[in-house]
Amino acid sequence: MPESEIALAALSALWLPALILGRLGRAAAPLAAAAGAGLFWLALPAAGSPAALAVPALWAAASCYWVLSRRQNGPSGAGARQASAEQLKEAGERLALAKKEFNEAGGREKKVLLLYSAMKYLAEAVDHQAAGRQFARYIGDYFGTEDFAFYLLGSAGEAELFACGRDSSSGFNSPEGLRRAAGLPGKGPPEPFAADGKPPKAGVMVSHAGEPVGFFAAAFPSAAPAAELAASMTSFAGEIAFAVRRLRLFREVEWLSRVDGLTGVFRRGVLDERIDEEVRRAQAFRTTFALLIADIDHFKRLNDGYGHQFGDFVLKRVGTLLRESVYETDFVGRYGGEEFAVLLPRAEPEGVLRKAEAIRARIEAENFSHGLESVRISVSIGVAHFPRDGRDAAGAVAAADAALYRAKESGRNRVVDASQL
Ligand code: GH3
Ligand code: MG
Ligand code: MG
Repeated sequence: MPESEIALAALSALWLPALILGRLGRAAAPLAAAAGAGLFWLALPAAGSPAALAVPALWAAASCYWVLSRRQNGPSGAGARQASAEQLKEAGERLALAKKEFNEAGGREKKVLLLYSAMKYLAEAVDHQAAGRQFARYIGDYFGTEDFAFYLLGSAGEAELFACGRDSSSGFNSPEGLRRAAGLPGKGPPEPFAADGKPPKAGVMVSHAGEPVGFFAAAFPSAAPAAELAASMTSFAGEIAFAVRRLRLFREVEWLSRVDGLTGVFRRGVLDERIDEEVRRAQAFRTTFALLIADIDHFKRLNDGYGHQFGDFVLKRVGTLLRESVYETDFVGRYGGEEFAVLLPRAEPEGVLRKAEAIRARIEAENFSHGLESVRISVSIGVAHFPRDGRDAAGAVAAADAALYRAKESGRNRVVDASQL
């Protein structure tokens, strides 16, 4: 075989090393080009005339160019363009999915953080009211609604509002409103509900170790099924139940220190604080309040005749009757041994007199029976209004006391208003 043909064959096969080198990466492209140039130079004298080399040389150069450009730019042509368009589309979809997952993960992370902060806050909270306000913020952020209420449930099922949102459209911030939302009449502990509609509403029990410790109700600005919302509220409730139970225990201890152990109404110190607070509120908002002082008639005789134990029983029962006779927003305290005070915010004088008279009549009608003994008693009540009858807390109390004294003086078992003095 003549040397010139070997050289031509070598030259024609030049694309092969270029392809191999080209596969190795972009950095190999100059190497491939240099190798091609070298082989061409070697083959040139063997071929005899440069013109005889022109065709295979052009072929080899075109091959090298094709291999290298393919290596750098990928496949070309209509089919390749379509393939890359599909790849682009797929990549776009993957990117959108990744973005969605990222956002969802971000939302989940935010919720977990909120939940963690809420639990931490509840676990460390000492100031009950501040804790309630902060907790309300966490709930608002977590569920994206301001129409909600969170209650602590006492061991007897009594509900105490702990936190609520700025929007009270659904009326969840009163125990009666909660029962209405659940389609239940009257008083009693709240019960779970889920009602579809605009907006969907749900109420769930917060339980710890099977014991109800709280109740959570909310309305949502979404069209999601109420049952689904109730499920997410239940899982939230499950996470914070332990912290809520701790808060409730804390609250109970605090409660015990504020409430009179015998009668179940507030202690004298709390009563005094409350009267001061009510005076400040009335002065700031230019409102009024009424103060009733009720004193059991001839209680000393009762103690002497039936014993102190029976006297204690009567006191306890009177405390219960008084609490049952007023609204939850009213306040009943033990003013002295057998004297009770009732504070009625924003009350009209005629309404207060009717209320006082109803209390008097109810106690008169009650049959106090304990063991084998059964007695009837009566109370005298003095009524005063702020600011009508006193310029400050002491003035209002003195006016109610004076009215009570007049009720005793004029025969007992009656109501006297300070304005009658
Ligand atoms: P009046 O009609 O004038 O109010 O007569 P009274 O006997 O009720 O008046 P007084 O205020 O003189 O007596 C109140 C009595 O209440 C004296 C006290 O022994 C009794 N008492 C005060 N605290 C308690 C208590 O916690 N338990 C019992 N059993 N008795 C109490
Ligand atoms: Mg007395
Ligand atoms: Mg008395």
